[in-house]
Amino acid sequence: PLAQVITKLIGLGVMASQNEVIDEDTCILLADDFGKEINIVEAEEEISIEEEMGLNYEDKENQLKPRPPVVTVMGHVDHGKTSLLDVIKHSHVQTSEAGGITQHIGAYTVNVNNKKVTFLDTPGHEAFTSMRLRGAQITDIAILVVAADDGVMPQTIEAISHAKSANVPIIVAINKIDKPSANLDRVKQELLDNGLMPEDWGGDTIMVPVSAKTKEGIDDLLEMVLLEAEMLELKANPNRKAIGTIIEARLDKGKGPMATVLVQKGTLKFGDNVVSGFSSGRIRAMIDDKNKQIKKAGPSMPAVILGLSDVPNAGDLIYAVEDEKTARTIADKNKESSRESRINTNNRVSLENLFDRIKEGEMKELNIVVKGDVKGSVEALIQSLVKLTNEEVKINIIHSGVGGINESDISLASASNAIVIGFNVRPNINAIDLARVEEVDVRTYRVIYDIINDIESAVKGMLTPTI
Ligand code: GDP
Repeated sequence: PLAQVITKLIGLGVMASQNEVIDEDTCILLADDFGKEINIVEAEEEISIEEEMGLNYEDKENQLKPRPPVVTVMGHVDHGKTSLLDVIKHSHVQTSEAGGITQHIGAYTVNVNNKKVTFLDTPGHEAFTSMRLRGAQITDIAILVVAADDGVMPQTIEAISHAKSANVPIIVAINKIDKPSANLDRVKQELLDNGLMPEDWGGDTIMVPVSAKTKEGIDDLLEMVLLEAEMLELKANPNRKAIGTIIEARLDKGKGPMATVLVQKGTLKFGDNVVSGFSSGRIRAMIDDKNKQIKKAGPSMPAVILGLSDVPNAGDLIYAVEDEKTARTIADKNKESSRESRINTNNRVSLENLFDRIKEGEMKELNIVVKGDVKGSVEALIQSLVKLTNEEVKINIIHSGVGGINESDISLASASNAIVIGFNVRPNINAIDLARVEEVDVRTYRVIYDIINDIESAVKGMLTPTI
């Protein structure tokens, strides 16, 4: 009887009500109290209400149609990311639409040889990884902008690591070739040193010399993006209820909540009932990146929608559903479960839990971000760390660099479930705060031997616990 179960639970210190979710340990204790044994068949994965309702189903191969690539521009500050995005935005709209772009909606689409390419309008790997942190990976191709006169800089290296750890292919735009001090070979050599081998040197990274100032090479760059997209065989089913990702959202004083949706599957239509997190509603206006009213948006297309009840979160999914009631019910359920479904950091790796996770077969790789005070010691450290790879676990250095531990390191570690090691460097205040929120294991050392020793012990389950 329910009353008995609840009484027992209270005895176990769980103030349960009728619809309480209880954890595995409590289940076992409770069953034990009743003289029963629990057999856990499968640990339930945390799934969203939308998934539970089967909204995010897989399409059949024959329903899939090619879709435009979604591109993010990354690179070091001042290397020309914004300039490049502007030039592309203004030089590749169809003549009928020329001059039509009046507002920033977070993404825009251009026509290249009658094919479409969608650009995310917020450059930088910070934006890229903050979307990943929310579980959204919408970028198909990264354009890495490197200034030909400045070469590879710290944020160039960060961007490479962020794109690589997300498995997003990189096309390099070597920018500012109009400058007299531009030196293509030097830049290529530096990129090679950082793991990107130029195609014309026998590697597989496309590198296109461009100038955002003179517009030289921009067409070549876009053609390369199309070529890469073709190789990726990007596809989606346009004929289903839409699923998209919120890429920007705000409250407009006159119009109410406005959100830019990047459609991923299906076609989002005027009049559709939609839900995203707590927010639901019926689309009462759709506007494209040229500020034109539209009736629908297919896969890889961005659109601003009006009609939501609340401002949704960037990075969250949005679903078109059958009717208004369904949308509202899902939004209500999301509200109810909001406390439980907050970003789940329980399965973060740390040196403490590493061994258990390896034992349970959950972890086959340990991802590490390494930062140090000088290049030589970072390299020496990496060499020693990768040697710790054994049959059970492979050590992956997903990013390394010289300098203090910054927010980029933490967000990368968080998005890739990595730990962060600092040798003779410390995290800055922002990094400390972010690491706390994201529960990223950050360790700093003054002696290389101690690092190796700790990782080795952790891999073998012999780490001395720290307080
Ligand atoms: P971001 O920080 O990467 O977004 O860089 P910006 O696009 O803001 O560009 C930084 C500076 O470089 C600006 O003063 C631009 O005018 C300049 N710049 C960008 N691209 C080029 C280029 O191709 N040639 C030259 N000469 N200057 C450029």
